[in-house]
This record gives sequence, structure tokens and C-alpha cells, in this order.
Amino acid sequence: MNAPVHPHALSTAELQALDSAHFLHPFTDHKGLAAKGARVITHADDIYVWDSEGKKILDAMSGLWCVNAGYGRKELADVAHAQMMKLPFYNSFFQTTNEPAVRLAARLAELAPAVDGRRFQHVFFSSSGSESNDTNVRMARRYWDLMGQPQRKVIISRHNAYHGSTMAGASLGGMSAMHAQGDLPIPNITHIQQPYYYELAEPGESQDAFGLRAARWLEDKILEIGPEKVAAFIAEPVQGAGGVIIPPATYWPEIQRIVDKYGILLISDEVICAFGRLGHWFAYEKFGYKPDLVTFAKAVTSGYIPLGGVLVGDRVAQVLIDKGGEFNHGYTYSGHPVACAVALANLDIMERENLPGRVRDDVGPYLAEVFEQFKSHPLVGDAETCGFVAGLVLVQDKATRKAFPEDWAVGMMCRAHCFGNGLVMRAVGDRMIIAPPLTMTRAQIDEMAVLIKKALDLTLQELQSQGKFGIR
Ligand SMILES: *Cc1c(COP(=O)(O)O)cnc(C)c1O
Repeated sequence: MNAPVHPHALSTAELQALDSAHFLHPFTDHKGLAAKGARVITHADDIYVWDSEGKKILDAMSGLWCVNAGYGRKELADVAHAQMMKLPFYNSFFQTTNEPAVRLAARLAELAPAVDGRRFQHVFFSSSGSESNDTNVRMARRYWDLMGQPQRKVIISRHNAYHGSTMAGASLGGMSAMHAQGDLPIPNITHIQQPYYYELAEPGESQDAFGLRAARWLEDKILEIGPEKVAAFIAEPVQGAGGVIIPPATYWPEIQRIVDKYGILLISDEVICAFGRLGHWFAYEKFGYKPDLVTFAKAVTSGYIPLGGVLVGDRVAQVLIDKGGEFNHGYTYSGHPVACAVALANLDIMERENLPGRVRDDVGPYLAEVFEQFKSHPLVGDAETCGFVAGLVLVQDKATRKAFPEDWAVGMMCRAHCFGNGLVMRAVGDRMIIAPPLTMTRAQIDEMAVLIKKALDLTLQELQSQGKFGIR
């Protein structure tokens, strides 16, 4: 045995004390957390994680939308070990390259489907989704400079979108709380409303009619700015962190018509939606649109090691290549050999086990059936799934779609009951969402459904006991 890494085992309380003394967590009220103590996760297997008190928790969020192949994949660890022993790092700045990065770029180019002859033959690597979207901003503007239209700088995004947390990522995102703290967005980024039917449709408006109307907000914005100034439109195929907002079927085709009409670039941020999450390798294939740039990260390695990047379509790549000149942008870890080797092994697993296919044809449709049943719960205003993401909206009055007052924090109440029962389900306002590992079986979906039902019942009881439900 090798010497243990830690001089002595730390108790939960010791870890929590050190944590609050030294570790500033992302997206966290540090004072609140210090008072409470962080939950310490120690190990994981399959779709479960365990905390330092030995509690087993069903992870219906795949970590943070990442662990598509599930936990405990020894072959990913083995590949990382072997690659670290062989070549742990080398840069790709100075006309050098490495085999895992080359192979991964070629593999992604092969996996990404061509639409109407538009292909993705090139990849730009980063280490995260945020960085990849910074790359998109730089690349879109570089493209228009090279095209002789340097005035095309504006990038249009959507309210409640999530595109990361760097200055450009948070600016592209449409989270008002993030903008408020960073003096954001940076210049030349603007937002339109999201295609959220449940909240934004007019009374009696059909899904299809709403989808067209929502897409036309893009055209209105383009005309307001002046089409000659617009560089790109960026969107998630299904908004993830915003609460699993699934657009109506008419939305994406109309968006495609509009971007084509004005010649603007279309950026599909698939950091969540790619790699089987919606039942396809890439989500633009599912919805049938034709992006010019595709952001990926998270599940490309199933989260085992950080990696992100942009699939660059021929339209942009050919201009960057043919016009020449240096693109003054990149990251130390662009094309990191260990991360790329792990990604290749992860894609092997996904292919071998047909994870996208089973989500599309088997467990995805089953998850949809199970979620349909939650619609009869008194708290649930709507329940939706798309592949292996799903959302439930909790409302005070189903008939009128009346939301709970925000300060009752009903979503957080429900989330606490989930945790209490050994389930990770996330709350975005009062939308309860999941994105489970794609390896989840039907039996495990049933097991999860029991836990969700229990959390909903406990939430209802708590609201009733406070006199906050069943009153009009
Ligand atoms: C998570 C996420 C990002 C940001 O990725 P990081 O790796 O956290 O920087 C960007 N876009 C979408 C759609 C995401 O879900």
C-alpha cells in the first residue's frame, strides 16, 4: 500500500469547518452556508452518490448535467492514468499537436450530423462551457471582420438563458441576478424573451401559435437593431439551468427561417443537450436546425475531467482558414491530452452502450410516461420531458396557473424534502427539474418516481399545515 494522501481521516464536522474557513463556493451565499455546513460527498457509483454520514442519494441531476455515462467508470480512470504517464500535458499554441486532441477533433467531426450539406469538420477546444462561449463571441466577431462587415457585432440571446459565468458567458446568459452583480452585459449583447409557453402564452393560445410568436421576437429585435449590425443569435436547444424550458415544435424552424433571412450566425449552446441528453448525439439534429457554431462541455467527458469546446461549421471555419491571419485567442488547456483521451473513452462507452439511442427509444419515452402521471398531483401545474431532462412546475392554483409568492420559496421547500428522502432534484424558482444519468434503468426511474412523489406529498403537507394551500 502507498502512504495515505491525508495524514488522518477528517470527520464531517472538521471538513465542514475547513470548508467554511477556506472554500468560497460558486453561486453560494457564503454566510448562510457557513452557518449550516456543506454536505460532504465522498464517493459515487452508477446513479448514486454517498455523503460523509453514509447517506445514499439518488443523483437525478448527473452531478451538474454532466455524468451522462454514470459514476464508477473504471475505464475512464485507467485511460486518464495511462495518458498522464505518457504525456500529461503539452500545449497546442506553437504549431504543435497531440494524438488524443487530434483523434477527438476528428471523432466529433464524424459524430456531428451534417444538415443540408452543412458540416462540422473543425473543433476549437477549451476547458468549460463558459470559455467555449467566450470563444464563440470572439470567433463570430472575427468571422464578420474577415467577411468585411466589422460592424456586425451584436449577439442576441434570451432572457433566462444560461451560457456560463465568465464575463462573456454571463453577458450572453439572461440571468438578471448575474447581470446585476457584474455590471453586465458587456456591450453589444442583447436579449429577447424565452419561449416559455406555460408562463408567457396568451389564454387560449396554442403551443404552435406561441412558438411562432416567440421566434418572431428575434426578427423584431433584429429589425430594431438593424440587420447589418447583428452578428449572431445564441440559444440552448432546451433551456437547462433556466428550468428545463422546452420550446414548442414550431419555434426552431421559425428561428432558422429568420437567421437565414438576415444571414446571421446561429450558435447552438449544447453544453447540456448534446451527447445523448435529448436522445441524439447533438440536439440540433433532433430539432432539425442548422447551427454554424455548437458549444459543448459537461458530458463530453461525463464530467470526469474538465473539457469544453466549439464545433465550428464549414461556413465559419473556411473563412478563418482561407483568409488567413492569426486568430488571437486560445487557452493553455486547449486540446489537453488527458481530457481529450478521457473524452474519447467516454464516447466509446456511449457508443457501445447506445446511450443516445436508449434515451430516444426506450428510457426517454418511459420517463415521459412517468412524468405525465405527476400532472394529477395537486401541486403540479405542468410536467414536461424531452429526452432525459424533465421539469415539474409547482403552482398554487392549477386552474388559473397562479404561481406561489416568490418569498414562500416553495421550490426550495420541495428540494429540501427531496434531499431528506435521498434524492437530488433541483429547484429553479418553483420548477423542479431533473437530468439523470443516461444509464438509468426503468426500475431506477420507478425508484426515482417514488421519491419525487414523496417529496411532492411532503411539500403539500407542509404548505397545508402553514395554511398556504387550498385557499382561494
Ligand atoms: C453549464 C453550462 C454552461 C457553462 O459551462 P461551465 O463549464 O460551467 O463553464 C454554458 N452553457 C450551458 C447551456 C450550460 O448548461
